Amino acid sequence: MKDCVYLDNNATTQVDEEVLAAMLPYLTLYYGNPSSMHTFGGQVGLAVKTGREQVASLLRADPSEIIFTSCGTEGDNAAIRAALLAQPNKRHIITSKVEHPAVLNLCKNLERQNYTVTYLSVDNQGQLDFSEYKASLTENTALVTLMYANNETGVIFPIEQVGQLAKEYGAIFHVDAVQVVGKIPLNMQESTIDMLTLSGHKIHAPKGIGALYVRRGTRFRPLLIGGHQERGRRGGTENVPGIVALGKAAELAESCLIMGTGEKELRDYLEQAILTTIPDTVLNGHAVQRLPNTSNIGFKFVEGEAILLSMNQHGICASSGSACTSGSLEPSHVLQAMGLPYTVLHGSIRFSLSRFTTQDQILKVLEVLPGVIDRLRALSPFTSDDAGWLVERKQTVLAKY
Ligand code: PLP
Repeated sequence: MKDCVYLDNNATTQVDEEVLAAMLPYLTLYYGNPSSMHTFGGQVGLAVKTGREQVASLLRADPSEIIFTSCGTEGDNAAIRAALLAQPNKRHIITSKVEHPAVLNLCKNLERQNYTVTYLSVDNQGQLDFSEYKASLTENTALVTLMYANNETGVIFPIEQVGQLAKEYGAIFHVDAVQVVGKIPLNMQESTIDMLTLSGHKIHAPKGIGALYVRRGTRFRPLLIGGHQERGRRGGTENVPGIVALGKAAELAESCLIMGTGEKELRDYLEQAILTTIPDTVLNGHAVQRLPNTSNIGFKFVEGEAILLSMNQHGICASSGSACTSGSLEPSHVLQAMGLPYTVLHGSIRFSLSRFTTQDQILKVLEVLPGVIDRLRALSPFTSDDAGWLVERKQTVLAKY
């Protein structure tokens, strides 16, 4: 798999070699407990301090506002539960229909614990229905929890406008920024965000480490109750190698944001080439209000899974955004919430790039993909209003292969 074309970076990223080099000594030489009184543990404690400063710097936050977690899911759970525990008399939560399951499934769970949850709609470009948001805020709203950008389409929500209004109603504002950190600049000093989740494995650190930003003064109760680690906000001996790795990854991400990576140019090139050379393709999500690395494209009249499997045979990794549950292919809840037509829902592919994506890799995708789509359309069982088109096209393609 060494030579695979990896365009699934919103799922997870390759660990940067510099990150690996930084963390390795903390798995071998420096294995002390950062809470120990001796010098051996103390020097490990210093590494944790540096990691915290590096993550804080990426967010323009204070190091005391960073709590290390095990992943994005933990960060989301910790923030949401903390916000509710801090305001026991308020029973209303606002979120959106397109959140990651880390938020969505927790909210569904909270409904069973007598919380009322408003799931905000999005339009056909994946943008938030702001008037619905405005109308749903009440004095009883404890928490507004929204993703900064969507993991499937990359569409960015108007986070600061949302936060401004949340403040007017005294609601705590949590943002799942797992897909955003390292991709666009963030500045917590000029933000309305109270809590923000990030995850290491999306920014070239390993899996198993994340962080939660908690603005100073925000009422917070720990999810993991235990020792005094993380100033009593998250019990459990620190994942020191993970923290060192996350710190280094944050430092590298910060310099990439300043220097630029060329990721957006490659994404745009790929996207434009697909949309102009392969018939019946559409971009899913807003063309501009979007992460620079993500492109979600609908290939009408084909199954996304079939495209993925065919690309996989050519060593190309992407994602369909559909979940295969109990033998039935469920279309993505995000694309469904956008109200996309059936043929697009079932044939959508997410390409997500990273700073390691090369021009040659993009060219390989463009070399392979048109043939894949042609062949699959020739075999496609879809019938629709466009069935006439399909029959004609099948005949042309079958004659070719
Ligand atoms: N939130 C978003 C938007 C994500 O994309 C993901 C992971 O894909 C998560 C949360 C969960 O992060 P983790 O895999 O670190 O638990």
